[in-house]
Amino acid sequence: MSGSDQFFGRIKGNWRQRANERSTFASEFSLIPHWLIIVFFALYGVALVMVVGAVYTSPESLPDPLARQPHALQLLAMFGIVTGIAILVAGYVFLIAYINRDAKRRGMGPWLWTVIAMFVPYLIGVILYFVLREPYPFECPRCGRLVNAQFNFCPNCQCNLRPSCPNCRREIRLGDRFCPHCGMSLEASAPAPPENSPV
Ligand SMILES: [Zn+2]
Ligand SMILES: [Zn+2]
Repeated sequence: MSGSDQFFGRIKGNWRQRANERSTFASEFSLIPHWLIIVFFALYGVALVMVVGAVYTSPESLPDPLARQPHALQLLAMFGIVTGIAILVAGYVFLIAYINRDAKRRGMGPWLWTVIAMFVPYLIGVILYFVLREPYPFECPRCGRLVNAQFNFCPNCQCNLRPSCPNCRREIRLGDRFCPHCGMSLEASAPAPPENSPV
Protein backbone atom coordinates (compact mmCIF):
# COMPACT_ATOMS: atom_id res chain seq x y z
CA MET A 1 0.00 0.00 0.00
CA SER A 2 2.56 2.55 1.08
CA GLY A 3 4.84 1.21 -1.65
CA SER A 4 2.32 2.02 -4.34
CA ASP A 5 1.56 5.38 -2.69
CA GLN A 6 5.23 6.16 -2.94
CA PHE A 7 5.32 5.00 -6.55
CA PHE A 8 2.38 7.17 -7.60
CA GLY A 9 3.66 10.04 -5.48
CA ARG A 10 6.88 9.95 -7.43
CA ILE A 11 5.07 9.87 -10.77
CA LYS A 12 3.05 12.88 -9.66
CA GLY A 13 6.21 14.65 -8.54
CA ASN A 14 7.83 13.91 -11.88
CA TRP A 15 4.84 15.30 -13.76
CA ARG A 16 4.97 18.45 -11.68
CA GLN A 17 8.67 18.95 -12.25
CA ARG A 18 8.39 18.22 -15.95
CA ALA A 19 5.65 20.83 -16.27
CA ASN A 20 8.38 23.42 -15.74
CA GLU A 21 10.48 22.11 -18.59
CA ARG A 22 10.49 24.49 -21.49
CA SER A 23 10.67 22.81 -24.85
CA THR A 24 9.46 23.44 -28.35
CA PHE A 25 8.63 20.90 -31.00
CA ALA A 26 11.68 22.06 -32.96
CA SER A 27 14.04 21.64 -30.04
CA GLU A 28 12.66 18.18 -29.28
CA PHE A 29 12.73 17.18 -32.92
CA SER A 30 16.40 18.16 -33.15
CA LEU A 31 17.14 15.30 -30.73
CA ILE A 32 16.48 12.85 -33.55
CA PRO A 33 19.83 12.04 -35.19
CA HIS A 34 20.32 13.76 -38.53
CA TRP A 35 21.62 10.65 -40.25
CA LEU A 36 18.34 8.91 -39.49
CA ILE A 37 16.34 11.69 -41.12
CA ILE A 38 18.65 11.65 -44.15
CA VAL A 39 18.36 7.86 -44.49
CA PHE A 40 14.61 8.14 -44.22
CA PHE A 41 14.28 10.74 -46.96
CA ALA A 42 16.72 8.82 -49.16
CA LEU A 43 14.57 5.68 -48.84
CA TYR A 44 11.43 7.72 -49.50
CA GLY A 45 13.08 9.10 -52.65
CA VAL A 46 14.05 5.59 -53.78
CA ALA A 47 10.47 4.40 -53.24
CA LEU A 48 9.10 7.25 -55.38
CA VAL A 49 11.58 6.49 -58.15
CA MET A 50 10.55 2.83 -58.06
CA VAL A 51 6.91 3.89 -58.36
CA VAL A 52 7.70 5.94 -61.46
CA GLY A 53 9.64 3.00 -62.86
CA ALA A 54 6.79 0.60 -62.22
CA VAL A 55 4.18 2.92 -63.76
CA TYR A 56 6.13 3.39 -67.00
CA THR A 57 7.75 -0.01 -67.46
CA SER A 58 5.40 -2.56 -65.95
CA PRO A 59 2.03 -1.01 -65.12
CA GLU A 60 0.54 -4.51 -64.98
CA SER A 61 2.43 -5.03 -61.70
CA LEU A 62 0.36 -2.33 -60.00
CA PRO A 63 -2.53 -3.29 -57.71
CA ASP A 64 -5.51 -4.47 -59.73
CA PRO A 65 -7.92 -1.51 -59.89
CA LEU A 66 -4.98 0.75 -60.88
CA ALA A 67 -3.50 -1.39 -63.63
CA ARG A 68 -5.82 -0.10 -66.36
CA GLN A 69 -5.87 3.58 -65.38
CA PRO A 70 -3.94 6.39 -67.15
CA HIS A 71 -0.36 6.94 -65.99
CA ALA A 72 -1.08 10.26 -64.29
CA LEU A 73 -3.71 8.66 -62.09
CA GLN A 74 -1.47 5.67 -61.38
CA LEU A 75 1.35 7.98 -60.31
CA LEU A 76 -0.91 10.07 -58.11
CA ALA A 77 -2.41 7.04 -56.38
CA MET A 78 0.92 5.28 -55.87
CA PHE A 79 2.60 8.46 -54.58
CA GLY A 80 -0.26 8.81 -52.14
CA ILE A 81 0.12 5.23 -50.91
CA VAL A 82 3.92 5.48 -50.60
CA THR A 83 3.67 8.83 -48.80
CA GLY A 84 1.06 7.51 -46.39
CA ILE A 85 3.21 4.51 -45.52
CA ALA A 86 6.28 6.76 -45.22
CA ILE A 87 4.51 9.05 -42.75
CA LEU A 88 3.50 6.09 -40.58
CA VAL A 89 6.98 4.57 -40.67
CA ALA A 90 8.64 7.95 -39.99
CA GLY A 91 6.33 8.62 -37.07
CA TYR A 92 7.22 5.29 -35.51
CA VAL A 93 10.98 5.32 -36.23
CA PHE A 94 11.47 8.95 -35.21
CA LEU A 95 9.48 8.39 -32.03
CA ILE A 96 11.67 5.43 -31.06
CA ALA A 97 14.83 7.44 -31.84
CA TYR A 98 13.49 10.35 -29.82
CA ILE A 99 12.81 8.09 -26.83
CA ASN A 100 16.34 6.70 -27.07
CA ARG A 101 17.94 10.15 -27.02
CA ASP A 102 15.53 11.64 -24.52
CA ALA A 103 15.99 8.76 -22.07
CA LYS A 104 19.74 9.21 -22.30
CA ARG A 105 19.40 12.93 -21.63
CA ARG A 106 17.34 12.16 -18.54
CA GLY A 107 19.69 9.50 -17.20
CA MET A 108 17.14 6.70 -17.67
CA GLY A 109 18.73 3.72 -19.43
CA PRO A 110 18.22 4.59 -23.11
CA TRP A 111 18.46 1.09 -24.57
CA LEU A 112 16.11 -0.47 -22.05
CA TRP A 113 13.49 2.15 -22.91
CA THR A 114 14.13 1.81 -26.62
CA VAL A 115 13.42 -1.92 -26.37
CA ILE A 116 10.31 -1.33 -24.25
CA ALA A 117 9.01 1.31 -26.67
CA MET A 118 9.64 -0.95 -29.67
CA PHE A 119 8.39 -4.26 -28.40
CA VAL A 120 5.59 -3.63 -25.93
CA PRO A 121 2.64 -3.80 -28.33
CA TYR A 122 -0.08 -1.26 -29.14
CA LEU A 123 2.31 1.63 -28.30
CA ILE A 124 1.90 0.80 -24.62
CA GLY A 125 5.69 0.94 -24.21
CA VAL A 126 5.75 4.40 -25.76
CA ILE A 127 2.92 5.64 -23.56
CA LEU A 128 4.61 4.11 -20.52
CA TYR A 129 7.76 6.01 -21.34
CA PHE A 130 6.02 9.37 -21.53
CA VAL A 131 4.18 8.71 -18.27
CA LEU A 132 7.22 7.52 -16.35
CA ARG A 133 10.06 9.57 -17.76
CA GLU A 134 12.15 11.42 -15.24
CA PRO A 135 12.59 15.18 -15.21
CA TYR A 136 15.92 16.52 -16.46
CA PRO A 137 18.87 16.31 -14.11
CA PHE A 138 19.57 19.74 -12.68
CA GLU A 139 22.38 21.50 -10.87
CA CYS A 140 22.45 21.36 -7.11
CA PRO A 141 21.62 24.92 -6.02
CA ARG A 142 24.32 24.83 -3.38
CA CYS A 143 27.33 23.12 -4.93
CA GLY A 144 26.44 23.07 -8.63
CA ARG A 145 26.90 19.35 -9.15
CA LEU A 146 24.47 17.71 -11.61
CA VAL A 147 21.92 15.72 -9.59
CA ASN A 148 19.23 13.32 -10.73
CA ALA A 149 15.74 14.70 -10.43
CA GLN A 150 14.65 11.85 -8.16
CA PHE A 151 17.30 12.53 -5.52
CA ASN A 152 16.11 13.94 -2.23
CA PHE A 153 19.50 15.19 -1.13
CA CYS A 154 22.57 16.24 -3.05
CA PRO A 155 25.07 13.35 -2.79
CA ASN A 156 27.90 15.85 -2.77
CA CYS A 157 26.90 18.50 -0.24
CA GLN A 158 23.74 17.08 1.42
CA CYS A 159 21.67 20.03 0.29
CA ASN A 160 17.94 19.27 0.69
CA LEU A 161 16.71 19.07 -2.91
CA ARG A 162 13.06 18.57 -2.00
CA PRO A 163 12.28 21.09 0.66
CA SER A 164 8.76 21.16 2.02
CA CYS A 165 6.70 24.00 3.38
CA PRO A 166 7.06 24.16 7.19
CA ASN A 167 3.39 25.07 7.45
CA CYS A 168 1.51 22.70 5.11
CA ARG A 169 4.26 20.11 4.53
CA ARG A 170 3.78 20.09 0.81
CA GLU A 171 6.72 20.10 -1.52
CA ILE A 172 7.99 23.49 -2.62
CA ARG A 173 10.61 24.46 -5.14
CA LEU A 174 14.06 25.62 -4.19
CA GLY A 175 14.15 29.39 -4.19
CA ASP A 176 10.40 29.89 -3.71
CA ARG A 177 9.80 32.86 -1.44
CA PHE A 178 6.25 31.90 -0.60
CA CYS A 179 4.60 28.51 -0.42
CA PRO A 180 2.54 28.11 -3.62
CA HIS A 181 0.01 25.98 -1.73
CA CYS A 182 -0.72 27.90 1.48
CA GLY A 183 0.99 31.26 0.94
CA MET A 184 3.29 30.93 3.96
CA SER A 185 6.39 33.11 3.70
CA LEU A 186 9.36 30.80 3.39
CA GLU A 187 12.12 33.31 3.92
CA ALA A 188 11.76 33.70 7.68
CA SER A 189 11.87 30.01 8.41
CA ALA A 190 14.00 28.89 5.49
CA PRO A 191 15.03 25.38 6.50
CA ALA A 192 18.36 24.30 5.06
CA PRO A 193 18.50 25.11 1.39
CA PRO A 194 20.17 27.78 -0.60
CA GLU A 195 21.35 30.36 1.97
CA ASN A 196 24.99 30.14 0.99
CA SER A 197 24.42 29.59 -2.67
CA PRO A 198 26.01 32.37 -4.71
CA VAL A 199 22.95 33.04 -6.88
ZN1 LIG B 1 25.21 19.92 -3.69
ZN1 LIG C 1 2.57 25.68 2.54
